Amino acid sequence: MKKKYLRIINICFFLLVTIVMSSFIDFKSKIIYIQPLGDVNSKYTDYLKTSVKEFYGYECVIKPKVSLTSDILANSKTRYEASKILNKYNSNQNNLIITEKDIAHKKSDEFPEWGIFGLGLRPGKTCVISTFRLKKKVSTQKMLERLKKVALHEIGHNLGLEHCKNNKECMMNDADGTIKQVDQEKIWFCKKCWSLIR
Ligand SMILES: [Zn+2]
Ligand SMILES: [Zn+2]
Repeated sequence: MKKKYLRIINICFFLLVTIVMSSFIDFKSKIIYIQPLGDVNSKYTDYLKTSVKEFYGYECVIKPKVSLTSDILANSKTRYEASKILNKYNSNQNNLIITEKDIAHKKSDEFPEWGIFGLGLRPGKTCVISTFRLKKKVSTQKMLERLKKVALHEIGHNLGLEHCKNNKECMMNDADGTIKQVDQEKIWFCKKCWSLIR
């Protein structure tokens, strides 16, 4: 009888250690899968891989591209619907989806297809970003800086962050489709935003 109890205690202890260890490992070795949607220049995916590692410390794995299909098109069929992309590719992995095509999201009845830079589940594991609205009339360097900010912002949403109203230079501000806001941000989270995820 005593032996049986000891065995149960042993098993419980083993389970507890496993749970504690796995949550520790999950935090330390979080992997983000960068998923190109359609043709995406490798200079963008390579740059994102480095940027995410530098800012969050997460490793990134660049996956082979998946095709742009008609099921993720917006009603006008002229651009893609970000929420359809999130629904389709959401999984147990952390996914950063990137496309060079224009993506949109319903803002209101007046603007059912509002062009956006990115959208992320909050909280969640999947976000999508588009290079389309970032590259007009700017140098590659400037465009890459914008891409980095948008990606780090959407991953911030995945981690549970809401839009920041604390500091205009914080990357968690609502860009609301205006690149001006993105351009005035620093590669930086304000203290309040950091405190919510660290
Ligand atoms: Zn946002
Ligand atoms: Zn903030």
